[in-house]
Amino acid sequence: MADYECEDGRIRSPGKFEGEALYVPYFWDMYMDGFAQSVDDGVIKMAVELDDRIEFPELEGIEEVWLWVTEQGFVTEIQVNPGPSVYQCPICGSDCGKSDHRLGISGKIHAIWECDECNISWYLPEKGA
Ligand SMILES: [Zn+2]
Repeated sequence: MADYECEDGRIRSPGKFEGEALYVPYFWDMYMDGFAQSVDDGVIKMAVELDDRIEFPELEGIEEVWLWVTEQGFVTEIQVNPGPSVYQCPICGSDCGKSDHRLGISGKIHAIWECDECNISWYLPEKGA
């Protein structure tokens, strides 16, 4: 693995991993070697194994690391549970609970959640170029 300049656990070296955790290039290399668990609509899902947790103790309790490549070619990590913990339906205002589902649509990460009242699925843009 290449050497990166780090500060507070984040990569400071300029380039496509700038601002990311040190395990992002580590998983990216594994992805390039063909070890992705799955790729769903551009979201690269990497399983976190015991070896990975030994290398990166901060991954304790984390099952998957999700990567996303922006239009500018930066590799960024998608937090599996980012953003608001509770979503509200824009139509009826009811509490839709939380979304742990992410989907890449037209280069943007969307959170997906469903209103049980209206029976509508919502796609909320979250992150991306
Ligand atoms: Zn609703």
